[in-house]
Amino acid sequence: MMDVAPLLAVTYGLYVVGSRKGDKLNGQIANTVFQITSEPIRVAVSINKTELTHEIISETGKCCIGILGQDADMPFIGNFGFRSGRDIDKYARIPHILTPSGCPLPEEHILAYIDLKVTGTVDVHTHTVFIGEVTDCGITGEGTPMSYSYYREVLCGKTPPTAPSHLAASCDVESTPERKEGTPMKKYVCNICGYVYDPAVGDPDGGIEPGTAFEDIPDDWVCPVCGVSKDQFSPE
Ligand code: FE
Repeated sequence: MMDVAPLLAVTYGLYVVGSRKGDKLNGQIANTVFQITSEPIRVAVSINKTELTHEIISETGKCCIGILGQDADMPFIGNFGFRSGRDIDKYARIPHILTPSGCPLPEEHILAYIDLKVTGTVDVHTHTVFIGEVTDCGITGEGTPMSYSYYREVLCGKTPPTAPSHLAASCDVESTPERKEGTPMKKYVCNICGYVYDPAVGDPDGGIEPGTAFEDIPDDWVCPVCGVSKDQFSPE
């Protein structure tokens, strides 16, 4: 079997692709966004056919590309990247504006936006590459754009199976702290997004103090990245 490791050397950014159908606001993470020509300016974005974003862009012919900054954290990315807009309102807890295209754009963690009007598509089996004319663009923040490698290496981010660049990936894990009784406390991994619950760190934002064993977390706790319940976790 061919070794696909060289493909990991291809560099990408990370983007929130906003779309809107009537009152329904949607957004998803994409890493395959490219300016493909300069006269006229055309930008392409590849979207999986199963995504709600695909359905909305196909119908409306519009989307807004938000360029993620390096300050974006996993809960922010996970909200857009690991759950479907068919199941949740992705903008329910995300302060946002509407760009001139009418599509939503988060107010935080975004450096710039590019509004696209679709002028062509390329069917690539699992995905459609939408090619668009830039109808508007603007700078909305300051900082360093998030690269896909930064996301993988620093944030230990996983890639959903529906992403064009999906490859198996993992981050190294350090030592395991001990439970009070002396037995080591295990780390648990979210089966959906790859978030690792580390007992030494806990999940303070989710009300779980450092030093809490996974077994002792209340059953109504959810993954801080993708929102699934505790039974979706496996021992590391
Ligand atoms: Fe998760």
